[in-house]
Amino acid sequence: MAVSNVDQIMLQAQNVCAENGLKLTKKRRQVLHALVMSTTALSAYELRESCKTETGDLLPPMSVYRILDFLQEAGFVHKLNLSNRYTACVHIACNHAHRFSQFLICVKCQLVTEINIPELTINNMKSDAESAGFELTKPQLEISGVCYTCKNKAA
Ligand SMILES: [Zn+2]
Ligand SMILES: [Zn+2]
Ligand SMILES: [Zn+2]
Repeated sequence: MAVSNVDQIMLQAQNVCAENGLKLTKKRRQVLHALVMSTTALSAYELRESCKTETGDLLPPMSVYRILDFLQEAGFVHKLNLSNRYTACVHIACNHAHRFSQFLICVKCQLVTEINIPELTINNMKSDAESAGFELTKPQLEISGVCYTCKNKAA
């Protein structure tokens, strides 16, 4: 996600952690910061690169995955299942409850936009699923497309 209020988001994440007895350690903060700053979804590998220390040391891959698990559980980060990449939630600094998420993903530049599905659409999806003998537990829609920037470039 591309944001202007990065400091506010990081502060809010810090507060949420404090309220829930969680620790936003320096490394967790680094990974979250990298995701908040990125307009595209990032792979664990790319995140590892972006969290290199001044001496060029990389985090062990397991640590990166553990940090990503933590950030997902805290509700700061979403995993895009189709591309196996991660993106910061656009609602970190919001006070409302998180609804089912829908992601629009540009197939050309990997730009990710998180949008909210209207309640009515979700209810329709639920009842359609139920008629098919299926209960929606954690629906997440990932929709591929082309962003306007890429579309205009191609034109
Ligand atoms: Zn979200
Ligand atoms: Zn919001
Ligand atoms: Zn694009």
